[in-house]
Amino acid sequence: MTYTIEHFIDGKKVPAGSGATSDNVNPATGEVLAKVSMNEIAAAEAAVESAVRAFLEWSETPVGERCQVLFRYKELLEEHFDELTQMIVDEHGKTAPEARGDVRRGIDCVEYACGAPSLMMGRTLPRIAVSSSFSREREEGIPLDSSLERVPLGVCVGITPFNFPIMVPLWMWPMAVACGNTFILKPSEKVSLCALREVELAHEAGLPDGVLNMVTGGPEVVNHLLTHNDVKAVSFVGSTSVAKHIYKTASGAGKRVQCMAGAKNTMIIMPDANQDAAIDGVIGSSMGNTGQRCLAGSVAVLVGDAPDWFIPRVVEAAKQINVAKGDAAGCTMGPLIDDASVQRVKKAIEGGIKAGAELLLDGRTCELNGGSFVGPTVFDNVPHDSALAMEEIFGPVLSILRVDTLDDAIAVTQRSPYGNMAVMFTDSGYAANKFKDTAGAGMIGVNVGVPAPMAVFPFCGWKDSFFGTLHSNGEDSVRFYTEGRIVVSRWF
Ligand code: NAD
Repeated sequence: MTYTIEHFIDGKKVPAGSGATSDNVNPATGEVLAKVSMNEIAAAEAAVESAVRAFLEWSETPVGERCQVLFRYKELLEEHFDELTQMIVDEHGKTAPEARGDVRRGIDCVEYACGAPSLMMGRTLPRIAVSSSFSREREEGIPLDSSLERVPLGVCVGITPFNFPIMVPLWMWPMAVACGNTFILKPSEKVSLCALREVELAHEAGLPDGVLNMVTGGPEVVNHLLTHNDVKAVSFVGSTSVAKHIYKTASGAGKRVQCMAGAKNTMIIMPDANQDAAIDGVIGSSMGNTGQRCLAGSVAVLVGDAPDWFIPRVVEAAKQINVAKGDAAGCTMGPLIDDASVQRVKKAIEGGIKAGAELLLDGRTCELNGGSFVGPTVFDNVPHDSALAMEEIFGPVLSILRVDTLDDAIAVTQRSPYGNMAVMFTDSGYAANKFKDTAGAGMIGVNVGVPAPMAVFPFCGWKDSFFGTLHSNGEDSVRFYTEGRIVVSRWF
């Protein structure tokens, strides 16, 4: 019988019950690795109870001590780097270098959270005059001290997508627990093995029971947590349609919510761009992680006569991509996450052909090992208002649009309902500055194909790529996972 992935509640693995399950599959081979329990509300309840019990003691543990656990955790992640990398390759299908990037970027987040003692510091202003004219203290001239402290919220919940199995959960829980909260992680059902190992290692590092819990599951479990009385904050990363539901439901129930959502990212190629950098950048951005990135540059907007050099070179570079199982020798692109994604991407390609786009390279015939493969696909002359140009595909499909001027190119980025990222390749500071100021996206790349912020900066999507006020990572995450408290005091 296939093993069902355990929950992790109150410091230990808890076997899943007998409810509905979904298969957890190695997408490169089709092999079922495990089953995932999908609808165990009792497990979610137990996780909340454990997190509530753990909160008081953990929140009163000095922040410096809380961070000692994270320092040990960082060391453990380094020791288990190869093991985690292989788990990502097997469960998600990334190439080995992409999987290493996933773990490394996750470790960056843990390192940043280790700085919580200074990041959480409040502010103090001694002997400040009180502002109310009704105040007796002010009339009598008695000095008051005022300070702002940052304090934890309580139980926080994180709901994560499949595409960065180790890193995205690490965007959330290390900073949440460093700030004194307790946490429940509900990882993607497609990569729950990686998440379970991440959580287990945190306990090996010394995280007390109940501070970090994990429940597997799907929508029913998520919906139970979103409106739970004891949950104070919800962090979500995933598609825009689910993000809208999460934001509406959880904020309607009075929770603090941040939702990092889907994307459709444009890269503008100016005629004066450094050609090698533009080709490398566009291929890396559109095809990296098999296009399954919220920072995938899936639309290239070619300005003026840029197509003359760009198109032959980008098609040639895409043809050189070696699609295979992620850890096979020479592999430069792995599978999609599952067969449903293969069907979705193939449908998008067929839709592009029907819309009149010109198919320069067709990845639909790529079938290997019984896995979920689609090869690199490139379209030229894509109609500006077609689904290929406007909708997230989440696969290795590059759509090329042609325009006459810089302004026309910027108008393409502005029309997008999404605002995660926009990129320009150019030698002109004027063009780059104008683009940066008007593109309408929160993460801008200038001669960089994937402008992913380091953990010290927020992951800054705009428009339909983000719902909330405070983003993940950077100072935003410290503010998200803490409440401000003002203390006004006088002493005799
Ligand atoms: P998804 O929205 O299908 O799933 C994300 C999470 O939500 C999973 O844990 C899933 O179990 C849960 N979920 C799914 N449907 C639900 C429902 N109806 N109700 C409640 N919960 C539900 O996303 P995915 O396919 O796992 O990930 C890909 C998406 O994530 C892409 O759109 C990508 O752009 C986005 N993404 C965004 C960022 C960002 O920072 N903006 C980062 C990574 C991925």
